[in-house]
Amino acid sequence: MVGMAEAWNEAPLRIGVVAMQGAFREHARAIRTLGAEAVEVRRPEQMEGLDGLILPGGESTAIGQLIQEFGLDPALRRFAEEGRPVYGTCAGMILLAKDVAGSQQYRLGLMDMRAQRNAFGRQRESFETGLAVPALGEEPFPAVFIRAPYIESVQSPCEALAVYGDKIVMAREGRFLATAFHPELTDDLRVHRYFLDMVRQAKEERDLAKGRAGVL
Ligand code: GLN
Repeated sequence: MVGMAEAWNEAPLRIGVVAMQGAFREHARAIRTLGAEAVEVRRPEQMEGLDGLILPGGESTAIGQLIQEFGLDPALRRFAEEGRPVYGTCAGMILLAKDVAGSQQYRLGLMDMRAQRNAFGRQRESFETGLAVPALGEEPFPAVFIRAPYIESVQSPCEALAVYGDKIVMAREGRFLATAFHPELTDDLRVHRYFLDMVRQAKEERDLAKGRAGVL
């Protein structure tokens, strides 16, 4: 029975990448490199059967507006309520925050954190740094920041996974993950692998809850 459950779980994970605007192709490439399926999502019906979802970087107000125009908002909220993992990068991170400093812009608000947009100022519009991310191992992560936000504060159960100076730049709350930087623009796949592990675990838990593990 265990062997059969494992066989079920070996089906490739299907990851949706919201493809309204921004760096969605790069996320899809990283996901495919890791052996999972990547699906570009623009319409609600494209979310069927997905195991996880990525909200890419770009412009959070533009992406938010398109999410509403394309009628994707209810499907995204249902997806999250069903316990399926969501990962937001940069603009995607802003969309995941419950609170955005000084802004009423559209957001999904799934994570107990307060984001600050364009937080590194003009001089530091775009930069790369070796970032300590204990959850990914000892090797610093090559973190690329582009007009990046940061996380001003997190509230339990949301927890900080990385800080740059005194600014939180990576956080997790259960099945939701956020980075202020862009791992899809580097060859280092550890953040995507970390997210796929979250997705695999959530899928196993869903399958067990449905009682499928013993049947298939
Ligand atoms: N500054 C952008 C915003 O507020 C985010 C930048 C990015 O995603 N690279 O949406």
